[in-house]
Amino acid sequence: SNGATDSKNLKVKLVLLGDSGVGKSCIVLRFVRGQFDPTSKVTVGASFLSQTIALQDSSTVKFEIWDTAGQERYAALAPLYYRGAGVAVVVYDITSPESFNKAQYWVKELQKHGSPDIVMALVGNKADLQDSRQVPIQDAMDYAEKNGMFFIETSAKTADNINQLFEEIAKRLPRTLS
Ligand code: GDP
Ligand code: MG
Repeated sequence: SNGATDSKNLKVKLVLLGDSGVGKSCIVLRFVRGQFDPTSKVTVGASFLSQTIALQDSSTVKFEIWDTAGQERYAALAPLYYRGAGVAVVVYDITSPESFNKAQYWVKELQKHGSPDIVMALVGNKADLQDSRQVPIQDAMDYAEKNGMFFIETSAKTADNINQLFEEIAKRLPRTLS
C-alpha cells in the first residue's frame, strides 16, 4: 500500500460558495497570486486554479480551487459545482447581513447534499471594513461552532488571515484515505 505517501501529499477539490460580491474571487487571487486589484471586476479567467501548501510536518496539500464566474446566482447549478468537493469555503461580507443569511443557506444545502465528510469553513470577508461592520463576530462564531465549522474573518484587500484560512483547512483534512 502507498497509504503513507497518500496521506503525506493530499490533493483536494475546494469550492467557494456565497453571495455574489462577497469577495470569493479576490480571496482566491490573494491566496494563489498574492494580488488584490480593487479596480477590476474580478473574474478569474479560468474557473479553476490550484495552489499547493506545505505544512509544518512537511506534508503538502494541493488545493484544486473552483471559483464560480457568477453561477452563484443559480442555486440549481450548485450541486454540479460542489460534487466531489472535499472542502467548501462559505463566504459572507461582514458589512452585509443578507450575505450572512445566504451563507447559512449554503451551509444547510451542503449539509443536505454535500459529501458527508466535507470540511466546511465559514469566512467573514472584508474584515478591513470594521467601521461598516453589520455582522457581529460573535454571531458568526456561534453559528460556526453549532455547525461544526472552522470560522475565520479575512481581508482579501489587506491579506489578513488569507494564508491562515487555507492552512487551517489543510490541518483539518482527513489524513487517511480509503
Ligand atoms: P465575488 O463575486 O464573491 O467573487 O466577489 P469579488 O471577489 O469579485 O469581489 C467583489 C468586490 O468586493 C470587488 O469590488 C472587490 O474589490 C471587493 N472586495 C473583495 N474582497 C475585499 C476585501 O477583503 N475588502 C474590501 N474592502 N473589498 C473587497
Ligand atoms: Mg467571483
